[in-house]
Amino acid sequence: MSDMESDLKRGMVAWCRRQGIPLVGVADATRWHTPPFVPWMPEDFFPQSIFPGTESVVVIGLPVHLPVIETTPSIFYHEHYNTLNRLLDQFTYQIAERFNQAGYPSVSLPRDGYGSIEVLRESPVAFFSHRHAAFLAGLGTFGLNNMVLTQGYGPRVRFSSVFTTARLPPDPLMKIDLCTRCHRCVEMCPARALPEDPYPLGITRKEACTEYSAALFRRHASPCGVCIKVCPVGEDRQHFDRTDPGIYSRQYPDPALARAWAHVRRYGLKGAGKEV
Ligand code: SF4
Ligand code: SF4
Repeated sequence: MSDMESDLKRGMVAWCRRQGIPLVGVADATRWHTPPFVPWMPEDFFPQSIFPGTESVVVIGLPVHLPVIETTPSIFYHEHYNTLNRLLDQFTYQIAERFNQAGYPSVSLPRDGYGSIEVLRESPVAFFSHRHAAFLAGLGTFGLNNMVLTQGYGPRVRFSSVFTTARLPPDPLMKIDLCTRCHRCVEMCPARALPEDPYPLGITRKEACTEYSAALFRRHASPCGVCIKVCPVGEDRQHFDRTDPGIYSRQYPDPALARAWAHVRRYGLKGAGKEV
């Protein structure tokens, strides 16, 4: 890679910091061709298949604020999720455009990549996986909940990606496994969709998760997010004074938090106040 490409990455990371984007990583696009584990995805899902000429994939991550996701299912989390999606789309577009203006053809990816929950029910797979891109860009490791866990926020991060023809200096893959195998995500999944075995051996019952999400969607209360709410990994737990993940059991003794969550869930949703 040239000095110009190294400068391009430095400038992009500095720009991300100025925007308040805490997680930024770069993966060499050839990493998709050497699966770090099996089963891996078919070649059609590789960046170079989707955008021929891709040399690097930039992945950014924005944190989901823990006290907001604690209220799920709620309009509070539903809107927070939408806000993160809008920001991700804007930031990745701006990063791609910076690269284009520097002379390197680049595109931003949509953060979700499906038209509706009905489409997801027919085929619960997007044309590109930001989670795998985040893993290959060194931002985290897969947990039992099939999500990428990060040091700062556990799985409470939304990711999105940029494909660029610039050969940016790649970041190393994360060496430590952040998942503690506590099984809290498996036990608390309301749809019993998560496997006991770690990813990628365990197969998530995506149809069960999608059915539950569809029920929430009809009430404007999607997404679910319980499996990322209850995960004990992440420095955000100290920040928000939530180091005891046992607070999410039904026997939770702190009446103040339980009252706050019940209050939020009671408003702004179709059939608010009823359990799904
Ligand atoms: S999002 Fe909800 S339903 Fe889907 S796997 Fe996670 S906890 Fe289960
Ligand atoms: S809740 Fe426990 S088992 Fe599930 S991803 Fe987090 S650390 Fe791993």
